Amino acid sequence: MSWTRACIAASMLLIAAYSGAVVQQPRVAIIIDDLGYQLAAGRRAIALPGPVAFAVLPGTPRAAALADWAHAQGKEVLLHLPLQANSEDKDNEPIGIDLDMSRQAVVATFAEALQTVPHVIGVNGHRGSLLTRHPGHMLWLMEEISARNDLFFVDSYTTAESVAMQIATETGVQAVRRDVFLDPDRSPETVARQFERMKRLAKKRGFVVAIGHPYESTLALLEIELPKLSEQGIQLVTISELVR
Ligand SMILES: [Zn+2]
Repeated sequence: MSWTRACIAASMLLIAAYSGAVVQQPRVAIIIDDLGYQLAAGRRAIALPGPVAFAVLPGTPRAAALADWAHAQGKEVLLHLPLQANSEDKDNEPIGIDLDMSRQAVVATFAEALQTVPHVIGVNGHRGSLLTRHPGHMLWLMEEISARNDLFFVDSYTTAESVAMQIATETGVQAVRRDVFLDPDRSPETVARQFERMKRLAKKRGFVVAIGHPYESTLALLEIELPKLSEQGIQLVTISELVR
């Protein structure tokens, strides 16, 4: 074989290798937290285009209705479980896990929370900057999640000291950590900036988990920007696809 022909053959092989490889697009999964109180905002969130997931606060007046609605629209539903936060102000959510609870109380509370939100396929934490630092309570909780076979966990990561991912690994629970909060405050400028951050991180790292809330500014931005993601080379995927 001549040198030229060898070169051509080698190039063809390279081209074949490239076209055969599955080039994975950057992927983004978005969760909207804190559903359960306001029906209108909840339903507007659920109408967002694409496979956005919805995290519903247990025991809230509209929890079951909104979870049913999301499920009927083909959207994924998470249990948005209140976990005790650092701050002094007491969390007033109807059902949640506190540090002063016994193991038995944690087990019972988790079971009760699950009963109030239908169609749950995973769990993420509401607040939690105190509780997620405590391996004992997180182990009790994660064992309950593990016992319900198909549930996964999303660490909302409200403190850098969260042990949730580590405990999830130890108990065999599939888990992923939140990367970006879309609306650390409600100003449209902040939401737009965080959305850009999400896209940059997805392109750099390959995948991102973003969490937002059913605020006017967040919903307005997502309604406009989500349909543009695919033409920007970013794939919006379900949270379950990212976790698994
Ligand atoms: Zn929350």
